Amino acid sequence: MRRLIVGNWKMNKTVAATQAFVAAFLRELDTLPPDVDIAIAPPFTALEAAGRALRGSRVALSAQNVASEPNGAFTGEIAANMLTELGVTSVILGHSERRRYFGETDQGVNKKARAALAAGLTPIVCVGESSQRRDAGDADAFVGAQTRAALDGIAPGDLSKVVLAYEPLWAIGTGKNCEPAQADATMAAIRASVDGLAHVRILYGGSVTPANVASYSDQPNVGGGLIGGASLDPVAFAELIRAAHPGNRA
Ligand code: PEP
Repeated sequence: MRRLIVGNWKMNKTVAATQAFVAAFLRELDTLPPDVDIAIAPPFTALEAAGRALRGSRVALSAQNVASEPNGAFTGEIAANMLTELGVTSVILGHSERRRYFGETDQGVNKKARAALAAGLTPIVCVGESSQRRDAGDADAFVGAQTRAALDGIAPGDLSKVVLAYEPLWAIGTGKNCEPAQADATMAAIRASVDGLAHVRILYGGSVTPANVASYSDQPNVGGGLIGGASLDPVAFAELIRAAHPGNRA
């Protein structure tokens, strides 16, 4: 399975900063392994500039959210066809920050995943447990339930188009690392939670850096990474992509 590495910029970078990132990252591209898929997810306001600058390159464009409705009176929302028009091909859904700060629910994530698929966007559906659930031994059951809810009613033929991301909440942006074998075991539970996920890519996310990425990408259930902080610098992001790839390790 080809690995996929997605840089989630969150609420970082203006248009000018995006242009500077892309120019520097494109200079790194020749040094990156050819058999890994790469995407960056800038904020909405920088998608057009990023899309222009990336045109003709192998770097795909992802968004960080999408509306569940196709159009209409939904002030402040961005519809799926507004994203595809800019060259966006995937969208991060149900990130823990959206669930925590903006009240996103499993049902809302499910609606957004369906809207994304209907528009030809790849949903990158995030699931993950709190430290309390992890400590209570509840993590696998919890993320399995999140996965089932997010994918509810999605046709088997569409399930293969979905990407999942396992991000333990306590490991996001904290520098705390989930033990790789433990992450892999939970990702196996995610894969088993819904029929039809055997070949779906599951990304790992949570304080992944160039120094620790190999310990995750070597795990059998890991199909790539969802990278926050370490995706903001073009040279470090390229270093991480090289380090994730077995053929490129020193
Ligand atoms: C994320 O935002 O999805 C993430 C994993 O962030 P970080 O890599 O900074 O922990």
